Amino acid sequence: MKLWFPYKQMKNLEVLLSVKNAQGAVLHMDNGSSLIDGISSWWAVIHGYNHPEINEALINQISQVSHVMLGGLSHQPAAQLAETLVRITPEGLNHVFFSDSGSIGVEVALKMALQYFKNEGYEGKTKIVSLKNGYHGDTFKAMEVSDDSDFTNAFDDVLHRGYFVNIPLGGFNASDAEVDVAVTEVETLFKQLAATIACFILEPIIQCAGGMNIYSPRYLQKVRQLCDAYNILLIFDEVATGFGRTGKLFAAEHAAVSPDIMIMGKAMTAGYIGHAATLASTRVFNSFLGDTYEKALMHGPTFMGNPLACTVALKSIEIIEEQNYIDKIANIERIIRDQFESITSDYILEKRVLGAIGVLEMKDTKSLVGFNKFCQEKGVWLRPIGNILYLMPPYIINDKELLTILKVIGEWIDSLGQ
Ligand code: PMP
Repeated sequence: MKLWFPYKQMKNLEVLLSVKNAQGAVLHMDNGSSLIDGISSWWAVIHGYNHPEINEALINQISQVSHVMLGGLSHQPAAQLAETLVRITPEGLNHVFFSDSGSIGVEVALKMALQYFKNEGYEGKTKIVSLKNGYHGDTFKAMEVSDDSDFTNAFDDVLHRGYFVNIPLGGFNASDAEVDVAVTEVETLFKQLAATIACFILEPIIQCAGGMNIYSPRYLQKVRQLCDAYNILLIFDEVATGFGRTGKLFAAEHAAVSPDIMIMGKAMTAGYIGHAATLASTRVFNSFLGDTYEKALMHGPTFMGNPLACTVALKSIEIIEEQNYIDKIANIERIIRDQFESITSDYILEKRVLGAIGVLEMKDTKSLVGFNKFCQEKGVWLRPIGNILYLMPPYIINDKELLTILKVIGEWIDSLGQ
């Protein structure tokens, strides 16, 4: 096999379906079959495939300029997108650095945080705090701040881990007492080791690839206060949660909290072209100002600010704002909640729903062996992570398509027996 697939044991690779084209929420295969995409191609294709307005914007931009380096030159799409991202993100994030993927956006965020303290004259603030079960990407520093898992195991010997803390139990509506347990853990760590800690990075409200764990917005408020008190920068990784997935444009809005640095990717470019943005507060940005390169951010991916990527992002945001996407997402949430009511089984440990995310955590990974194939036979594309069966459909999915996905999930759960 010449083509090396991601997260795959290549030894006994089954024959994979090959996508010929796609329209709306539906993938059409070379063999004539079709699948409703329940996971938006790794959560990115929020407007569905082949969106006419986005296609048109892209074609117009291609006829202007498809790519130009951002080193020493600027262009309207990048400048406009920076303006727009500052406008739509939480207060205080005033500066935008582009890169080409979520993992690189995370690398940039961590570089910003670590260099911030160096630029400010601190010594020894070099450690990073992150949440257990978190996932921030596959590059090395991103792996370091992600929890141990199949994603990182092969590199345990070379990863220089920082500190990990637990997320609060009790889900979105956790009691104050449940949140306080996790807050106390952070406070204890900060009290002892703040002099060594540069930043705290977390996925706000829901940890996605690490198990679709939802937690209370109050935790973010408390963590914000602690970071301020102990001079630690707060980083939100909104690569998965950004652009409406949790029911708000950004998950940070659930808590009305602004981080010092925030990363977005995936849905930013609606699944058309890989791109990411790392936003920083003026406090962080200003620390990079100086008369020499010494304090500057020495990072510059070749394709950062690519005009096609920026054009897609601008059009995508325009559509989200003009076509009431937050209402569309609320409708998806309602349908998932409603249909999940009737999906019950002893094999399910917990059901979780937030925005356009539905999760069935199974007690055992074994309950999902064969699930992906079962779905394919029924015309649906879903791909669990371990014991986590989840759906994150494109926001343009119609009710009938969404109900079909949920029906197929229900049939699988029924087939397990009680
Ligand atoms: N952060 C989070 C929260 C993610 O979910 C992901 C990707 N699943 C990444 C970072 C890495 O993004 P990418 O795959 O674009 O490098």
